[in-house]
Parts: sequence; structure tokens; C-alpha cells
Amino acid sequence: MPSSTSSPTDDQIDEARRVLESGDVIGLPTETVYGLGADATSPSAIRKIFAIKGRPADHPLIVHVADLAAARELSRSWPSSAEVLTEAFWPGPLTIIVERGPMILDVVTGGRDTVAIRIPRHAVALRLLQRFGRPVAAPSANRFGRVSPTTAEHVRSDLGSDVTMVLDGGPCEVGLESTIVDCSVDPPQILRPGSISAEQIADVVGRLASASGPSRAPGMLESHYAPDCTIVPVDVSDSPPSDVDRILDGRSDPLRFAHDLYSLLRDCDRQSLCRVAVLLPDDVGVGRAVRDRIFKAAAHRSH
Ligand code: AMP
Ligand code: MG
Repeated sequence: MPSSTSSPTDDQIDEARRVLESGDVIGLPTETVYGLGADATSPSAIRKIFAIKGRPADHPLIVHVADLAAARELSRSWPSSAEVLTEAFWPGPLTIIVERGPMILDVVTGGRDTVAIRIPRHAVALRLLQRFGRPVAAPSANRFGRVSPTTAEHVRSDLGSDVTMVLDGGPCEVGLESTIVDCSVDPPQILRPGSISAEQIADVVGRLASASGPSRAPGMLESHYAPDCTIVPVDVSDSPPSDVDRILDGRSDPLRFAHDLYSLLRDCDRQSLCRVAVLLPDDVGVGRAVRDRIFKAAAHRSH
């Protein structure tokens, strides 16, 4: 049984630090989803992440750090939008994109001149980052295109012995990937919705670039978050079709649903369900992020 109180011992954190120092990858808990982490300053360690995930090399990774000073060291400039957003939401489920500094490797950004950075709010991730003392690049700890893991058990069942060690920090508090805001452009633009909503971001930065038009975030357009079952999104004014095996209610409590979503999708696959309807929440707050993930999970089968 996963427990929300699980907490690795100091010895386990130290072992994870040694694994990172030796250039290997670990599964690590964050408040969003579990990450597949490696030393962001080691090209060979980063390549292992791409190999294990089966992730295309041009999909850049988010770099995780323990504090603001470390974040700024990775950047070439720190615009005022980055300043106010990080002050408001770090540590937390917000990733910012800024111009990259000389320390950032090409393999991390897929050759881009920007880098994605985050300070996570999970106590275990923070303890590890502090002890390791170097930035950790970490995408979600699942095979490319599949459902993100929100427990240590999910990581083990997806990646098995491909990952040397999984730190168990209990079920993820948020359960959805971070909100990504591009601060390298003015006004800043939301590249991926998350639990920190567009409304909250706009409150802090004032002006936001409109979300319409092609996303500038690589890896955002194709299907993603894909379970084996077919997902049938049911919008607010519609009623669910009668030919589905299960109906998931994302409408009555979107925050709770965000937290449970990836576990629910895994449950549906474990039960070999064919068609699963999801009652979509309204397109506000965390509802926007839930809708985004559900549409991507649905795109998987309808293409
Ligand atoms: P993941 O690590 O799978 O949660 O997702 C990382 C995502 O962050 C990528 O798929 C990109 O969409 C986005 N990202 C990371 N670095 C950059 C960057 N330099 N510019 C734009 N988007 C980025
Ligand atoms: Mg991912």
C-alpha cells in the first residue's frame, strides 16, 4: 500500500545522491509526478534518461534545483516575469523557461537557447537536490507518450530494472505535470497548463500572451498521457454515451480528479477496459489542465 507518510531515510537519500554522482538515473518523487532524474551536468547521464524513456532527443528536459541562486546560475538573464513568478510560486508546480546560461548542456535543451527550470515543493526532492548540490534534469518517469507515474509503484511497474533506484515519497500531492511559463518572451506565455492556473499566473505577471496559435513547446502537440483504453471526453453540456465500460467524473471535484487521474487511467488499463468516458470539468483553474491531459489521452486512439 502506498502511504502518504512514506519518507526515505537519510541513508536512502544518500544512496540516491551516490547514484546520481555515478552518472546513473533514479526515480524521484515530486509534488507533480514522479521524475526520472539524472545529473544535469553529465551528458552521458542525460542520454540514459532519453534511452530509458524512449524519448526523442529534441524534447528538452526540465532542470530541477534546490534554490533560487542555483536557478539563476543556469540562466543568462532573469526577466522580471521570472522574478515575480518564482517569488509567488516556488518551490512549487511551476516551470519557467528562460535564456540558458553557459552551464546548460545541449542534450538537456535539445539545442535550444532556452532552458526550463523548477524548484519542486516535495520534501524528499528538495533534500536530495540540496545534498547533491548540482542541478537534476528530470522528465516524468514513464515510457515516452504513456501515462505519468504518481506513485513509486507506478515507476517500478513502468520502468522495472531500467532504473537503479526509486525513492518512495508517497503519492504525488498534485498528480499533474507542472504549469510551464515561457519567460523568455514578453509578455510571457503559458506553454503547458497545470495546477497553477492561467488566472493565477496572469494575476502575478499582469499581461500574458494569448494561448492561441501553435504552441512553442516542443512535444506538446502530439498525443501523450496515453492509456491503452480509448478515452471519450464528454463536455459539460453533453451526456455520456451508453456504450462505455466506465465513466470517470472529472466535473464535481476537478482538483481531486487531477490528483487521481493517472491512477484512474492505470486502473482502467489493469481492468482491460475498452472505452472510458471522462466528464470534463469547466475550462477554468485546474480544469484547463485536466481537459488538456484528457484531450491528449483521447487523441492517442482517434488518430
Ligand atoms: P516533461 O519533462 O515530460 O514534464 O516535459 C518537459 C516539457 O517542457 C517538454 O516537453 C517541453 O514541452 C517543455 N520544455 C522544456 N524545456 C523547454 C524549452 N527550453 N523551451 C520550451 N519548452 C521546453
Ligand atoms: Mg512526461
